[in-house]
Amino acid sequence: MTQLLDGKIALVTGGSRGIGRVIAEELAAQGAKVVVNYNASSAAADEVVAGIKANGGEGMAIQADVSDFDAAAGLVKAAIEAYGQIDIVVNNAGTTRDTLLMTMKPAQWDDVININLNSIYNVCKAAVRPMVRKKQGGRIINISSVSGIVGLAGQTNYSASKAGMIGFTKALAKEVGSRQITVNAVAPGFIPTDLTSDLDQAMVDWALQNTPLGRMGEPQEVADLVAFLASDKAGYITGEVIRVDGGIAM
Ligand code: NAP
Repeated sequence: MTQLLDGKIALVTGGSRGIGRVIAEELAAQGAKVVVNYNASSAAADEVVAGIKANGGEGMAIQADVSDFDAAAGLVKAAIEAYGQIDIVVNNAGTTRDTLLMTMKPAQWDDVININLNSIYNVCKAAVRPMVRKKQGGRIINISSVSGIVGLAGQTNYSASKAGMIGFTKALAKEVGSRQITVNAVAPGFIPTDLTSDLDQAMVDWALQNTPLGRMGEPQEVADLVAFLASDKAGYITGEVIRVDGGIAM
């Protein structure tokens, strides 16, 4: 049976855990060969790849800290050496260092900007030229956040990084559109993962009360949109920011 992403090669940053893991699994289930990038969680990344293979898919894990320019370039190079090209890049790796601005240390600011925002420059800088040279179009999908759309107290660093991803998405979409490379951002709302596991109860209650659908989202609900945006069916969508947030940022 033909699948949505048959014959495609995908790179998912931060594919070892949380939303990235489910994105990697979904892209593989839709027929893509998937490079599962991780930074620290080696065993978890191996588990994702083993699961993909057990389901008849193809994937490999590659360690790289994508906040590091040279490491990100090495990741893209290794992916192309392994599979010949990259058709789909999902910039998913991300982190938080939540605190009010008045108590935010420079390292808390820098870590979040480096991991969430500088990483997409690093990865796209390495990946776009080979994609253009192949002349087969491509897909770049950046996992932003509703925090980058509405701003959330306690997240000046995170909101700035995620808003920065949106500006980057639109600018790059204009640069590479003529090459049939689309660049879109996905903005999840509250999704239960390690990232959100230590949110205080007041924040969770606030989120649920302000989400029209009245529940948190599932990683799979983000992954389903990413798979669609990665497919040929989404060929005329670019520079878009699509919320998967149960309506919280409406
Ligand atoms: P998570 O469960 O904490 O997973 C984060 C992933 O990013 C892990 O696989 C981690 O890999 C990887 N990562 C972190 N730093 C990295 C680095 N320097 N280089 C390479 N990989 C790195 O987080 P999540 O909730 O799935 O979040 C995934 C993305 O969705 C993030 O961009 C986040 O901002 C965004 N998002 C999440 C939510 C939510 O509610 N969960 C909402 C909106 C947006 P290692 O463990 O190997 O380091």
